Amino acid sequence: MDSYTVLYGVIGDPIRHSKSPVMLNRAFREAGINGAYAAFHVTPDTLGEAIAGIRALDFRGLNVTIPHKIEVMKYLDDIHPGAKAAGAVNTIVNEGGRLIGYNTDGIGYVRSLKEEAEPSLAGRRIVVLGAGGASRGILWALAQENPAKLMLANRTEEKARELAGAFASEFEIEPVAWTDLREACGSADVVINTTSVGMSPNADATPIDPSWLKPGAVASDLIYNPLKTKFVRDAEAGGCRGHGGLGMFIYQGAYAFEYWTGQAAPVGVMREAVMASFT
Ligand code: NAP
Repeated sequence: MDSYTVLYGVIGDPIRHSKSPVMLNRAFREAGINGAYAAFHVTPDTLGEAIAGIRALDFRGLNVTIPHKIEVMKYLDDIHPGAKAAGAVNTIVNEGGRLIGYNTDGIGYVRSLKEEAEPSLAGRRIVVLGAGGASRGILWALAQENPAKLMLANRTEEKARELAGAFASEFEIEPVAWTDLREACGSADVVINTTSVGMSPNADATPIDPSWLKPGAVASDLIYNPLKTKFVRDAEAGGCRGHGGLGMFIYQGAYAFEYWTGQAAPVGVMREAVMASFT
């Protein structure tokens, strides 16, 4: 670091578990960029001051994680349409003092799904399990890929109906009752778990019976702790193609890197850095 080092970071509460500094600093080094990325523990009562600090210190970029992704929007100068649709911001770009909010979670997930499991989503039948914070941005990003059908199921069914309704003017999402999932999953090309079921320490749980998926379908999970969930493992054992959540994390960071620097992200070394930090 020297007097020209450009500053970046991630804010959240909690934050010490974050793999983003390891991943992004490795990316800057690999790309030969004089940048530095740190993690900042920002509580909800100091969020406004933290964003004012970003402006004052002229940070080029910031990632925003739980619980600030929605609240941070009111401190920004502009919000990208994709982030508006997702209802949340996870990446801020400082364009000469104007703070612009983006959401790279949903598009990061879809890039990972296409690069690691299913190159084309056009014409596919897709079932999304879960209607929480992550689901919203993913639905928007999936809809941009022109699937034949996008179905959404949530344990609390009202939330799935509400979320489908919120997108009704832009694209069609069919709400599916949790009890009708066997049939919906049996006819799907891709089934995506966006619920927290199966996450460590409850790694023996699955959101649905993986044997409901047809052989050859993609079983995808946002969870990356464990790296391969029981849902993905059991579906693979039944002839499905598995896809885990680590790629989503890598690619949301890759998009942020690309927005900040205008350069292609060195995805391979970013993945290596994150994997090494698990051991
Ligand atoms: P969230 O807003 O809290 O939503 C949780 C979802 O899980 C809700 O749909 C909830 O349904 C459902 N759920 C919880 N317990 C359930 C159960 N026992 N049976 C059925 N459904 C259940 O969480 P989120 O922020 O969307 O995150 C969801 C998951 O995605 C987490 O595991 C998180 O780690 C993962 N994630 C991964 C990445 C990545 O980079 N790979 C990024 C973001 C999130 P109800 O509405 O009925 O409660």
